[in-house]
Amino acid sequence: MNQNLQSWLTDEIQKLKDRHLYKVPKILESPAGGVVQMNGKEVINLSSNNYLGLANHPKVRQAATEAIEKWGVGAGAVRWIGGTTSVHDELEERLAKFKKTEAVLVFTGGFTANSGCIPAVLTKEDVVISDELNHASIIDGVRLSPAAYKKSEGWVYGHKNMDELEDCLSRAGHFKKRMIITDGVFSMDGDIAPLPEIVTLAEKYDAFVMVDDAHASGVLGQNGAGTASHFSLYGRVDIQLGTLSKALGVIGGYIAGSRPLKNWLINRGRPYLFSTAHPPVVAAALIAALDVMENDPEPMNQLWDNTRKWKQMLAEAGFDTMGSETPITPVLIGDERAAQETERLLWEEGVYALAIVYPTVALGKARIRTMPSAAHTEEDLSKALQAFVKVRDCLGLFAN
Ligand SMILES: *Cc1c(COP(=O)(O)O)cnc(C)c1O
Repeated sequence: MNQNLQSWLTDEIQKLKDRHLYKVPKILESPAGGVVQMNGKEVINLSSNNYLGLANHPKVRQAATEAIEKWGVGAGAVRWIGGTTSVHDELEERLAKFKKTEAVLVFTGGFTANSGCIPAVLTKEDVVISDELNHASIIDGVRLSPAAYKKSEGWVYGHKNMDELEDCLSRAGHFKKRMIITDGVFSMDGDIAPLPEIVTLAEKYDAFVMVDDAHASGVLGQNGAGTASHFSLYGRVDIQLGTLSKALGVIGGYIAGSRPLKNWLINRGRPYLFSTAHPPVVAAALIAALDVMENDPEPMNQLWDNTRKWKQMLAEAGFDTMGSETPITPVLIGDERAAQETERLLWEEGVYALAIVYPTVALGKARIRTMPSAAHTEEDLSKALQAFVKVRDCLGLFAN
């Protein structure tokens, strides 16, 4: 073993530990759900993106079991090399109908869909204009492209600041293509991008729009079709990214848009070209999850009932949920150490909810990020609130 590497790793890990940034994942010992078994303990899980409870839905489980009997497990190869299975094809047809777009291309993850799509549609003559709170996978996708994108060069606008976006666009006329990219629902704040204003500005300045709907998929719009549907912007958002890993409960990501966009990505999207396809069982389970979303309004109604209840309970108890508009509900603590202590004490009380601190969010804006889901009962939420109140009183938070 190379000592140079080993000592570098040890030093860097120690630095993370010194800054309280070192992560050790907890071990989940039961299926996803509102209440789970974790590290040998039963806890209310407020840190999952299984918004609709589909990760362990009986119809999805059954479709997966049947698909394994029919197809076995692995796909065997990259899709354009080994042949794309009929079930992958069917999933893309279904998703395109669901999104009301011409075509959809599925990738193995939402992260991969960003890193596959963004660099494929940009050249060095183009510019990317981004919201400052965009997700890490957008940022990485943008960094893989040869286009101009840097904050230091003025191509990042303040969070949802439409004056700054317009300023960027007004300076970008000399580029060949202009791309505006934004989260649909912001993953740490739970607020919604002002997509109608973004689309209007894009049309005014001849730019195209890509929206990352990872946290809007299954949550916003008709049957959970996302932010474009939520704002009735059909046909006006050029590229929509959705995830199949969060509300849809399985794994994967997709790009929805025009037929030429799909054909281009099949030819130029590097993760599509060089990474093996999902096992067919994944596609079959996702088709079953889509069936539930399209035909059974109950999980989405339950998600939103619980979301409203949870926000109201927190507000009545005096917590600040930072203007969140979706199930992602940050509970503002402020101080970094206090947030981490809150996380630890909540765990003692049987509630699993993670502290999010600098550098993921700004200094002094540390928070506990909570996500109610369709899988939670009213009792789960009441118990969780009691734990929050108890921990706050115990730590003397917000006392002055
Ligand atoms: C989670 C997330 C992704 C990645 O999706 P996966 O399917 O988990 O890879 C992409 N973008 C945003 C905004 C996300 O929150």
